[in-house]
Parts: sequence; C-alpha cells; structure tokens
Amino acid sequence: MKPATDAPAATTNTTYAELCTRFREVATINSVGSLVSWDQETYMPPAAGAHRAEQMALLSSLSHARQTDPKIGELLSACEADSVLNDPASETGASLREMRREYDNATKLPAELVAELARTGSLAQDAWKDARAKSDFPMFQPWLEKMLGLSRQKAECLGAPSGELYDALLDLYEPGATATEIAGVFTPLRDRLATFVAELGDKGTRPDDSVLKINVSEARQHAFGQAVLKQMGFDFAAGRLDTTTHPFCSGMAPGDTRLTTRYDETHFTGALYGTMHEGGHGVYEQGLPKAPELAKYGTPLADSISLGIHESQSRMWENLVGRSHEFWTWAKPVADDLLGDAIRPYDAEAIFKAVNIVEPSFIRVEADEGTYNLHVMLRFELERAMLAGDLSVADLPGAWNEKVKSFLGLDVPDDANGCLQDVHWSFGLMGYFPTYTLGNLYAAQLWETINEQIDDLPGKVSRGELLPLLEWLQTNVYAHGRRYRAGELCERLTGKPLSADPLMRYLEGKIRPVYGL
Ligand code: ZN
Repeated sequence: MKPATDAPAATTNTTYAELCTRFREVATINSVGSLVSWDQETYMPPAAGAHRAEQMALLSSLSHARQTDPKIGELLSACEADSVLNDPASETGASLREMRREYDNATKLPAELVAELARTGSLAQDAWKDARAKSDFPMFQPWLEKMLGLSRQKAECLGAPSGELYDALLDLYEPGATATEIAGVFTPLRDRLATFVAELGDKGTRPDDSVLKINVSEARQHAFGQAVLKQMGFDFAAGRLDTTTHPFCSGMAPGDTRLTTRYDETHFTGALYGTMHEGGHGVYEQGLPKAPELAKYGTPLADSISLGIHESQSRMWENLVGRSHEFWTWAKPVADDLLGDAIRPYDAEAIFKAVNIVEPSFIRVEADEGTYNLHVMLRFELERAMLAGDLSVADLPGAWNEKVKSFLGLDVPDDANGCLQDVHWSFGLMGYFPTYTLGNLYAAQLWETINEQIDDLPGKVSRGELLPLLEWLQTNVYAHGRRYRAGELCERLTGKPLSADPLMRYLEGKIRPVYGL
C-alpha cells in the first residue's frame, strides 16, 4: 500500500484549519451534551429531569445548526478541490472523505423527518415497554409499523450506492459496509455456530457453574473491577468508573472517559465482564489522538472508526482476554485478595471453565460467547427483510420464533422472550444489530495477528502483563482515528478481508476442551 503522504502545505492550509475549527466546535458542544447525559444516568437528582430535557434539546439544536452551517459546505468544497489536501492516500484526504460523509448525512435529512422520528420514537418506546411487560405484540405492532415507515423514509433521504435501503441505515453505524457483504460472512458463521452449539449440548460435558453463584459484596466487586481496569491500562487520571442500571462508556472529551457498570451480589461475573467490556471501549477512547497539541480533536482523525470496530475492542478485552485461562492464572490471586473467602475454594481452571459455559437461551443480552452471534444474526436477517418489504410487521413474531428454533433449537414461550425483548427497533435503530457480531469477528481476526506479532502473548497475559497488547492496539488501531474504514484496516493489519474463520477457530479451540471434546 502507498505510504502516507502529507505535504507540509496541507496541514498548514488555512481553509482546512478553519474547517477543523468548525468541526471542533461541534465536538465541543456534543461533549457538553455527553456530560449532562452522563450526569442524568449517574448522579442527577430526580427533580432535575424536566429541565435536563430542555438542556439536552437546546444543545442538540445548537450542535445540529453548527454542523449543517452552509459555510462548512463551502469550506469542504474548497478543500476537496485542492489536490494536495484531498490526496486520498493522505491523512487530510481521509479526514475530508469522512467530513463530507458527516456533513452530507447531517444535511440530507429534512428537519421535519428528524423531529417526527424523535417524537414517534419516544411514543413507540413507551408502547414497547408496556407491550413487553404484558408480552402483547399486537399492542406494539402499529408503532413498529410507523417506525419502519419512518426508517424507510430516512433511508431514502440518505440513499445508498447499492440501492438497498438497509445499506443507507447500516452506513450510519458501519461506514462503507453493505448488507450483501455482511451476509456473505454471517451466513456461513450462522450455520457453523448452530452446529457447534448443538454438538456441545449433545456430546459435551457441561462444566460446574457453582462459582458463578457465589456471594460477593458490591464494594469488593468494585475494588476487583478497578484493579482489572488498571491492569488493562485504563487511565483513572483521565476517567472514572461509576454505577448505572445500563452500563456504558462515554469517551466524552479529551482527558475524560467515563465508564459505568452494575453489580449483582450473587453474580460477580456480570459486573466483572461488564467492566472489562466498557473498559475495552474506554481504552480505545483514551487512545484516540484527541490531545490538543495534535490539533485533531473534533475531526474524524481523532474519532473511532465504526461501531463494529469499537465493539471489537470491548469484546477483545471482555472475552479474548477476560475469558481466557491465562487471564484467570493472573487474576485468581488478585480475586482471592479482593473478592474474598467465597472465591478461594475455586482454582483458575474451574473459573475459566465456568465462564465459558455455552447454552442456548432466549435473551440476547444474557447470551454467552457461543450463542450470542446467533441472536444478532437472526435480528439482522429479520430487519433486512422488513426494510426490503419481504416481511410484514404482523408476521414478525412467527418469523422470529422460526429462526430461534432453527438457530438455537428452542421454542419461544412468549413474545417478551422473543421479538419484544430489545428496545432498538422501537426508536428506529435498524441496521445497528450487525455491528455487535462484526465486533466479535474483527476481535477474533485481529487477535490471530496480535498473537503472531507479540512474542508469547499468552505467557504475558498469565503474568498480568497486558500493556504490550494495549500498546499494539494503540499503534495499529487507536492512533489512526478514522483514517481507514473498518474493512480496510482489517485487511491492512491481518492481510485478509473479514472472515468467519478466525472466530470459529477461536471458539472451537477454546470451548471444545472445556466441554471435554
Ligand atoms: Zn459494547
């Protein structure tokens, strides 16, 4: 591949500098929005809710107005006409490509449609909550029909080179990806995973899971989570860990990355893996080149590539590191010390086996590493069919239940445990689900390359030496911001396009022995 060429003239170009300043202002407004919404999830007193909604609405309209200012369009066009700046092989060329995409996306949607999506989405979300509580799909059906219609309109406004509406929505989360390409990787993965999961159930010996049910106080779990985050290289001088109902990571600003987790005193691995997951997102955010002296903050060069790549970072730390035998070799004495008496009777081997139990279940967010992607792929197939007009909303529950039977071998008892379980579609989040599985695929594929390039990584992990891994990710992934698209970065780093093979090799290689196969 052609080496990067950045003529000095490009980085000192005043038009480009002005464009970057405008992007930085939008990012700064958005960072205030992230701060107030983090506060809302963590420490805000309940009575502040009404005014908080006003604050958020004002910030979002200020941000949108700046983002769609025609002056940005003029500056962008001027920069694009400059062949030095706009050299596709250069950093500025990549930055302009992504700025164009952001500007076009922000200006293509009519304000009325954006407002209608927000209004109907909010009502549909309320209807979904009621319908899920009562497991009553017909209550939710008219709302899903409305949101599907609005999502189609949105996709039509955005447009996609392939002509498939789904791709226009997918591109918002995974720039440049198409449903056809994704299906080309997902379909073989789906069949291989379904066979693998069935084989474990039929022929394997399920490990003992009693360690997963020990009692550990919230304070002890918090201390252990913090120790693991420190070992991962999460910088607490530039971040925090707090408690919320729904865990998240907000890389809100330079020097400020906030993680949250939740604790269940009878299930310590929930908080541990939640913390490692958000920590994986967190070290990515901390590693992006946002420092003021780099003058990249606010531009795509200081931003993450896609949701799929973001998720690859969280899943890598949570699963490929955190559910490995090597991790528990290091973590067991630390856990004995910080989690206390309840974990002491179990050795690293027993914990490693218990955290790798694979079992078909109904609920995606509770699914293990072996079955999780099957949950994601069935949603991808169904939402793609709904957007294409090949599946009506009325037929969704039946189609859902058929896929659960065929992928997981289970009979869905009711719609609360079936097609009503996720909030996403109620507020129009379609084209988002595949990024979860893309994350697992990218993580496994990068992991093979990382193991070739870092000498004795398993040995290092078993001694708690996690920084060589963080440094590899820093150099090869974080430092580039959004310079490369996800598929391009994958090929540059691993030499191959995204494939289902590394994930299957990883899962089979680890879990078969756990099941005595
Ligand atoms: Zn995540």
